[in-house]
Amino acid sequence: MQRPTAVEGGRRIDLHAHTTFSDGTMSPESLVRHAMAKKLAALAITDHDSVDALDPARRAADATLEVVPGIEISTCSDGLDLHLLGYFIDSTDATLRERLLEFRAERIERALSIVDRLRQLGAPIDGAAVVASAGSGVVGRPHIADALMRAGHVDSMDAAFRKFLGPRGGAYVPRPAFSPADAIALIHGAGGISVLAHPGPAMAITVIERLAEDNLRGIEVWHPQHGPSTIRHYQALAGRLGLLATGGSDFHGVGRSVDLGDIAVPFGSLLALKDAAGVAG
Ligand code: AMP
Ligand code: ZN
Ligand code: FE
Ligand code: FE
Repeated sequence: MQRPTAVEGGRRIDLHAHTTFSDGTMSPESLVRHAMAKKLAALAITDHDSVDALDPARRAADATLEVVPGIEISTCSDGLDLHLLGYFIDSTDATLRERLLEFRAERIERALSIVDRLRQLGAPIDGAAVVASAGSGVVGRPHIADALMRAGHVDSMDAAFRKFLGPRGGAYVPRPAFSPADAIALIHGAGGISVLAHPGPAMAITVIERLAEDNLRGIEVWHPQHGPSTIRHYQALAGRLGLLATGGSDFHGVGRSVDLGDIAVPFGSLLALKDAAGVAG
C-alpha cells in the first residue's frame, strides 16, 4: 500500500495515537518526545475510553508541538463495532468523566469473562495479571493478547485475535451495547467534534448516512487500513455529506504498526477541526 509522508508547508500532523493509558506501548511523555523527534507540528492523543494521557502529554510538549486533546470511544450496536473519535473535548466534563469510569469497569468485567472462556478453551492466563498489566490505564483485548503470547498459547497478536479474541474467535465476548449516537452526543456534550474512526474499505454507506443524521461531524479518511481508492471514496463521501475529513496513523507503539506521522494528513484538516470546535489558532 502506498503511504506517502505528509508534508504540507513542512507541517506534519498525526491525529490518531494511543498511549499506555489505553493499549499503546508508550507513556504520554515518550509519545510526545517521539512526535517532537519526528518533527510533527501537531499530535492528537486519542486513547480508547480515556483522557488521562492528555495532561501529562501537554506538560511534556515544547512549543514546536501542539497536543490536540482527543479520545476514541468504542461503540457497539446491531452487532457492529464502531469507534468514534472526539477532538477538542473538555476532559474535565463531568458527564464524560462519569461515563469513562463506567467504561473502565465494564472493560475489566469483559476482560475477566474473556479470560474465563480462554480457560475453558485450554488457554489459561491470569486474569488479575491482565488487569494489572493495564496499569492505571483501561484494559483492552491487546493486553489479553500479550498475556496469551507470554503464556505461549499463540505466537502473535494477530493469531490471538484470529483464534480467540476477534468477533470470530472462540473467546469473543461482545461489549455492553453503547450506541454510536450516544457516543456522538457524549463527545458533543463535552464540547468536542465527533469523527467516525477508520470505517475501512467495506463499511456500508447507509451506516455513515445514518451517523450523519445523528450529528456526526467527520470521517477519518487517512488511516493505515485505507488504500488510495478507499481514501478517495471517503473524501467524496465526506464532501457529499458535509463532513470533515481527518486522519492519522492509529499509532500503538514502535513495531506495532505504521510509525507516528507516517500517514499523510493535510494540515488543513486540523484547521477545519479547530474551526468547527471554535478553538483559536
Ligand atoms: P478492545 O478495546 O478491548 O475492544 O480492543 C480493541 C483493540 O484491539 C483495537 O483498538 C486494536 O487496537 C486492537 N485490535 C483489534 N483487532 C486486532 C488485530 N486483529 N490485531 C491486533 N490488534 C487488534
Ligand atoms: Zn487500540
Ligand atoms: Fe479504533
Ligand atoms: Fe485507535
